[in-house]
Amino acid sequence: MSERLYYSDSYTTQFEATVIERLEHDGKPAVVLDRSFFYPTSGGQPHDLGRLGSASVLDVTVRKSDGAVVHVLDSAEMPDSVSGQIDWSRRFDHMQHHCGQHILSRAFIDAADAPTMSFHMGTDGCTIDIDATELSAEKIAAVETLANQIVQENRPVDTRQVTLEEAQSLPIRKLPPLAEGELVRLVDVTGFDLTACGGTHPARTGEIGLIKVTRLERRKKMLRVSFLCGSRAIQDYDHKLKVIHDLTRQLSTGADNLVGSIEKMQEETRLMSRDLRLLRKEKMVALAQNLQEGFEPMGNLSVLTHLFSNGESVDELRTVGTELCEKENRIVLIGSSGERAMLFFRSSAGDDYHMGNLLRGVLEKIGSTSGGGRADQAQGGGQPANDQNVLDALRAAKANLAK
Ligand SMILES: [Zn+2]
Repeated sequence: MSERLYYSDSYTTQFEATVIERLEHDGKPAVVLDRSFFYPTSGGQPHDLGRLGSASVLDVTVRKSDGAVVHVLDSAEMPDSVSGQIDWSRRFDHMQHHCGQHILSRAFIDAADAPTMSFHMGTDGCTIDIDATELSAEKIAAVETLANQIVQENRPVDTRQVTLEEAQSLPIRKLPPLAEGELVRLVDVTGFDLTACGGTHPARTGEIGLIKVTRLERRKKMLRVSFLCGSRAIQDYDHKLKVIHDLTRQLSTGADNLVGSIEKMQEETRLMSRDLRLLRKEKMVALAQNLQEGFEPMGNLSVLTHLFSNGESVDELRTVGTELCEKENRIVLIGSSGERAMLFFRSSAGDDYHMGNLLRGVLEKIGSTSGGGRADQAQGGGQPANDQNVLDALRAAKANLAK
């Protein structure tokens, strides 16, 4: 059974050990050592990376059957006596986030009455799920302030092992199920938080540097809190400053005026869109006037077919159709080509002619099955179709009408 040296010392990154077992793990060479500082994936904390001799350590995992720490390697070349080297920047990042999580979880209890239900730590980010459905910005600010106060006070973080009986007499935040006689490892952020944990932590809270809540997300009956500590929080701050800098440059304004500038732009866009809609409507009314001469007689009806080739919307086609059917006994068969080709049929000739049926009979010519309508008005389309397709549909509708 390997001795887990990281339990009592999170800082040693170089050590000597003896290989006591060689094995394969998921098709890769692996070894068990008599003693190791490598942290295996457990308790929500990812494994360490580094080197053993000349081999890279790809994964470190605990074997369920006997608790051995298995070091998975990229090479089977390994002497019996070997030097280990742990990737310190990754380890320290895990230490900062693990301890930051303890402090944040306690701060959520003390300042927001919201206990932590689960914890995730990864290279993509760190989250805790807390037992709450919503929290005000003031509550979150109070939690952050308390957590960072504990960081700035640079309190000692101690670890010790106690028996189950002893543990049960202590105010422990989270205690896993234990067998009789089993020891439990406690992590003590002095005077603030006491919890059971097997992870790696810094010796003092000041090493965490900073704890920052970056996002809140509702997850069923819980809130998922994303947070960053130490260097990752500083990198995130740097990234967000760059984004703000780019925006202030593009909008030629100061950071404090960004929100106001964007709100002003949104209002301007809304007004311009409204004006554009009105102008296009006016244009369609004028176009309709030009089409008054295009009607052809069919019995007692006057029928017009016309193709629009500028991607006109169904609303624009409706404006034309409505305008042209103000006189009685008219039937207007119009359509637009483009990415969302549309047909619009309109009648002022009474219930003897059913525009919905007429339109459904020719929709397939513009590659669509979506559309229909009433006796006096019908529309359909939405698929891409070219000028010829739309003309074919309009001519077929006119031919059907003649029957
Ligand atoms: Zn921990």
